[in-house]
Amino acid sequence: MKRIVFKVGSSVLTETTNIANERMLNLVSLIVEARKKYEVILVSSGAVAAGYTAVQLNRSIPESKKVLASVGQSVLMSSYKNKFDIFDVTISQILLTEEDFDSRVHTEIFQDIIDRTLRNDILPIVNENDISTTPDQLFGDNDQLSAHVAYYTGADMLIILSDIDGYYDSNPKDNPKAQIKKIVTQIKEEELNQEHTPNSKFATGGIVTKLKAAQYIMSKNREMFLCNGFDLTSAREFLIDGVHNKGTLFTSKQEKKEEEKKGKK
Ligand code: ADP
Repeated sequence: MKRIVFKVGSSVLTETTNIANERMLNLVSLIVEARKKYEVILVSSGAVAAGYTAVQLNRSIPESKKVLASVGQSVLMSSYKNKFDIFDVTISQILLTEEDFDSRVHTEIFQDIIDRTLRNDILPIVNENDISTTPDQLFGDNDQLSAHVAYYTGADMLIILSDIDGYYDSNPKDNPKAQIKKIVTQIKEEELNQEHTPNSKFATGGIVTKLKAAQYIMSKNREMFLCNGFDLTSAREFLIDGVHNKGTLFTSKQEKKEEEKKGKK
């Protein structure tokens, strides 16, 4: 069975100062469906934003942000639990830091936990443990964390669910004529060095961290699919029906390179 990692951003999971329950439920039902076909790991952001629903501390102060994350992690997990309970899916919480990828011993510990969790038909929900870490131990955004999780757990594909339909030739929020790229087989240095543009106040990444995640995934011969997390139609079509309508596929596979070339003619 193929293994896939979903990554969902804060913008999808939260709405002003609340958990976006309906969107979360849609995500949960997609994951339930996907689990019939794939082994699924979920990397979920949203702890700080969820914490803010309970207590409005100043998130620009690093220590207060950690308190928000510590409050929010349980808010987030209980929201997931309520919804996965409907489908009888057991979930587990796995908090990682960059250090977990530093040494082979650490990496083996979390690989083993993920493998055992999946073998027992449990859905692992991974987030960055930003509570006890120093800034240099942090990935800082779950895009890159999820790329590492995907690689080290031997996943075939990373699916990033964002507030945007895919990767465009320029920022569609500034340029209404921006064109979506269907297949990307190479990312240029200047694309990786552009300004960070997270779209909501709780988002940390923007498109650059997604491109860095894609670069990492492609260098490891895996694939990444970036698509809309508000409307899950393209994710469902791609994963369940095997049809690529919308969304951007990042891949270094030869046959896809040819498809990309044809698309450009
Ligand atoms: P999330 O919380 O889902 O991780 P982010 O706000 O961090 O989302 O990142 C997605 C945002 O990146 C988009 O909403 C868009 O404003 C911005 N962006 C900048 N350039 C591009 C581009 N070329 N293609 C797509 N999105 C872009």
